Amino acid sequence: MNLDQAAVIGLTVPVVAGCMCAIFLSFWYYNREDRSALRFATAFFLAVTGFSANHYILDKDTLANAIFHNACYSGGLYLLLDGIHLAFSRKTPVGTLGTIGIGSVIAAVIIQLSPADLGQRVLWINTLQGCMLLVATASLWGIWRSNWTGTATYAALILCAINMVVVAPYNIVNSFVSGDVFFQTAYWATMNMVTTLSVTAMGGALVAVCVMQRLADLREDADHDYLTGLKTRRAFEEAARYYCDARSGEVAATLIIIDIDHFKTINDEHGHVAGDQVIGRIGAFLNAQTRSSDVAGRMGGEEFCLLLPGTDTAGARQLAARLRAKLSNLTFDALPETLRVTASFGIAEFGRRTAFADAYPMADAALYSAKTRGRDRIVCAPAPEDAGRPIRRERFKALPDGSRVPVGQLAS
Ligand code: GH3
Ligand code: MG
Ligand code: MG
Repeated sequence: MNLDQAAVIGLTVPVVAGCMCAIFLSFWYYNREDRSALRFATAFFLAVTGFSANHYILDKDTLANAIFHNACYSGGLYLLLDGIHLAFSRKTPVGTLGTIGIGSVIAAVIIQLSPADLGQRVLWINTLQGCMLLVATASLWGIWRSNWTGTATYAALILCAINMVVVAPYNIVNSFVSGDVFFQTAYWATMNMVTTLSVTAMGGALVAVCVMQRLADLREDADHDYLTGLKTRRAFEEAARYYCDARSGEVAATLIIIDIDHFKTINDEHGHVAGDQVIGRIGAFLNAQTRSSDVAGRMGGEEFCLLLPGTDTAGARQLAARLRAKLSNLTFDALPETLRVTASFGIAEFGRRTAFADAYPMADAALYSAKTRGRDRIVCAPAPEDAGRPIRRERFKALPDGSRVPVGQLAS
């Protein structure tokens, strides 16, 4: 292989890193809240700058080159790791990573000034960068447990570190040559190819991190009602159906539908902004008044639904009575202080095999009855003959959407 071929192979690294920089910049451009993407884009930009300056722009064997390209690599590595810590909600160990970054530039200067041969110095610097990468990778220990993108990111980091600390010493033993011939060695070609692979793997893993993060954010937005923070109707029904499919039926469960009374009048007389405030405040109130194992949703307009695992009709009636009393004492900034907002409650208890699709119309019919009997009251559907037993305290298990249900109620 001649020098030109080696230079062409070497070009693959900045080209791939440049593409990664463009991808992460576009992630950030379309979602300015994604601070990790901006860090990744800058990290890949610094990698391209350092690599290009070292191999194509600055004189190869000079102190200025050693300082500049190592400073670019250190800064890039710092931003890359900072971005990963941010993406996985971890605190960046600023002191450790900063010391590694500055220390590596100082070490590179010392190596550059040493009387060793050029090839030897390059190998030392690569090994040093690999060691830095290993220490930095250790700071992200455990991210593979977060999700598959954490596993991919960690694997890519280890691949990058192995490239530096294993490939370099292996080549020292096998094909050590010095001077300009060094850039025509198998070491140099292998190093560039493995570096291209590592940069591609790293970039691919981080693209997956950004995409999955964005999907999770969108899912979170779609599942939660903007006004109240409660689950949207679709998310509520999904959680309720999941729970109903999983429950054994031996333990009680109840549904309460809550509808604000004469809400249209509030809108008409005080405006939609006031109406929105009432809905938002009551949503937050319901969330605060229920257990973490309960599921609360806004079913639309001024109608809310609560799923109460472990609670029978008597317990649900008690909760509804408490909610009804406290609700009528709530005051709202946008409404006159004397105005009381009330609501009607419809309650239905699940039998051992009652599906959500059967319980909901029963609770709705009870709510309708509460409305026709004069509103501001609680009506319960008749308790089922095969009702489960109520339970108060137990361990809880997380559902896929993050809400929790009692372990005792999951079918084995
Ligand atoms: P009832 O006591 O029988 O429940 O009467 P109501 O007036 O509460 O019920 P109705 O269904 O007649 O009116 C509900 C109103 O809620 C009509 C609709 O314009 C209003 N609404 C629905 N969603 C929103 C919202 O997000 N914000 C505001 N401000 N109003 C909403
Ligand atoms: Mg209403
Ligand atoms: Mg309504």
